[in-house]
Amino acid sequence: MPFSLFGLFGNDLAMDLGTANTLVFAKGRGIVVNEPSVVAIRRSDQEIVAYGAEAKEMVGRTPGEITTVRPLRDGVIADFELAERMIRYFVRKVQGSRFVRPRMAIAIPSGITEVEKRAVRDSAEHAGAREVYLVDEPMAAAIGVGLPVEEPAGSMIVDIGGGTTEIAVISLSGIVTDISIRIAGDEMNDSIIQYLKRKHNLLIGENTAEQIKVTIGSVPPHKGEGKLTIKGRDIVAGIPRTVEITGEEVQEALAEAVTAIIDSVKLCLERTPPELSADILDRGVILSGGGALLKGLDERLRQETGLPVFIADDPLTCVVRGTGKILEDLPRYEKVLTKVKRY
Ligand code: ADP
Ligand code: MG
Repeated sequence: MPFSLFGLFGNDLAMDLGTANTLVFAKGRGIVVNEPSVVAIRRSDQEIVAYGAEAKEMVGRTPGEITTVRPLRDGVIADFELAERMIRYFVRKVQGSRFVRPRMAIAIPSGITEVEKRAVRDSAEHAGAREVYLVDEPMAAAIGVGLPVEEPAGSMIVDIGGGTTEIAVISLSGIVTDISIRIAGDEMNDSIIQYLKRKHNLLIGENTAEQIKVTIGSVPPHKGEGKLTIKGRDIVAGIPRTVEITGEEVQEALAEAVTAIIDSVKLCLERTPPELSADILDRGVILSGGGALLKGLDERLRQETGLPVFIADDPLTCVVRGTGKILEDLPRYEKVLTKVKRY
């Protein structure tokens, strides 16, 4: 049966299985799931008690009986079983009791191993998918922002997620040069936690660190503006205390992670064949993923590389939108799909 006929009957789904957020796009309906990739588990019987946003709210404030887990932490699948159950939950949530099994296209971090790819595919099949297509995250992001990936000209995409930053040069539907580092949003949050511990003797949790980053975080040459009063626990006295943190301090805390990302972009440029570098000089670098929203990062990259730098429209959704485009035109995008061997 031609693809279009399947499209009429099926309920095809595209998924961005991110280390921080999982998004699902349903053909004809748009984005139907946009939740943190987090599950909360009860220790005594290992039952999952919450998924997504509800589970994320519990991070750092769970009673001893409950623990929160991010199955894809650091861009690898840290826990296969939980990853599978999470995929299944999100698929069922949008599938309801539909009769037709969906086809699924899933964007995966490009650093994951063959074994992990099979695990993702198998999980999606267990969740009810009739066919599963995998695509590397930077490729999906590039298609999501509308880059002409099929042309013989180079495009560079820098996707800064939670666990990993993926830098890729794409040409002729393939990834030519690719660097994936485990320094991204989580590492920035962690740097803020360490900074407050060191400079203010204050312990804060992951969610508070993220809130600081998102509200007053920035990168020079952006002015480190604003301040925020935050609550935490005094390391010495052990009691709750508030501290005021300034935008400049956050810049100091983030400096190392930002430098690592910029250095990797430069390294990727050095490894790019000269003809494609020339293309990138013309077309510039596109930033995607939640980290693209860090104020001043685009300007800083512009200064350090001399290249035009653009932030993707709605950088948090461009991977799932790209995966959706692939799903809607599989014959056209066949070349960009990642093959996973069956045994
Ligand atoms: P993943 O693809 O790994 O799931 P996302 O692309 O969803 O990651 O991005 C999530 C990361 O982006 C988180 O670390 C989050 O803190 C960060 N982020 C979201 N919004 C902002 C913002 N405005 N400024 C800086 N970082 C942000
Ligand atoms: Mg992502």
